[in-house]
Amino acid sequence: MRGKLVVGNWKMNGDLRRNDALLAGLRAGWQAGGTREITVCVPFPYLWQAQAALSGSNIGWGAQNVSEHADGAHTGEVAASMVAEFGCRYVIVGHSERRALYGETDEMVAAKASATLQAGMTPIVCVGETWAERESGNGDAVVIRQLDAVVSRIGSRIAEAVVAYEPVWAIGTGRSATPELAQAVHEVLRARLRKHEAAAANVSLLYGGSVKAGNAKALFACADIDGGLIGGASLNVDEFLAIAGA
Ligand code: PEP
Repeated sequence: MRGKLVVGNWKMNGDLRRNDALLAGLRAGWQAGGTREITVCVPFPYLWQAQAALSGSNIGWGAQNVSEHADGAHTGEVAASMVAEFGCRYVIVGHSERRALYGETDEMVAAKASATLQAGMTPIVCVGETWAERESGNGDAVVIRQLDAVVSRIGSRIAEAVVAYEPVWAIGTGRSATPELAQAVHEVLRARLRKHEAAAANVSLLYGGSVKAGNAKALFACADIDGGLIGGASLNVDEFLAIAGA
């Protein structure tokens, strides 16, 4: 369901003391309005802390990954059903760091999106191309391939997902996509979603990659950009709230 959404991806950052300050700051500072929503995706060990700090507020929380398996002999993995027990609304799946550093394939990402839905949560499906792929003219084909892999697994339930366009070259680099480029790719993704499933044209499409308070307004003003997935800047209360306010 299309709505304005800003999601913080804390990545592997934080500790109990710093998280307390960050979560309390968000809770005190966030003025919700209309269909605007914010969520923080925290490391697994801190899900209980996010739940305790944010329950009863209008701020959501979620995880950054889940296993594609339901349970069993998968040492070190965390099942979607376990994450759901902590009241999570969202799970990020297919972040480019997981694809690049942990070898997650399109099929694994699709299975994780499916596991997330089955556990009653919303997958935030990340897609994005490298700079080499963009420069060689294959950027759109890459994000379509990544999206299609998920749709071929979850079918019409793609309409229940959130999709985040995160160009790999923009993540953590300080080099955001221009609003024009981001909008163009979002338009491609929305058209592809519509082609798959009429209702999927209404999924929230987020942009991620070096979003800051200074560039958020121009990005979020684009017709097909419904909000952002924010990495580094989500660790600073004022910056994150300024982005969400944009
Ligand atoms: C991310 O990790 O999803 C991300 C967008 O990072 P950053 O905002 O730091 O570029």
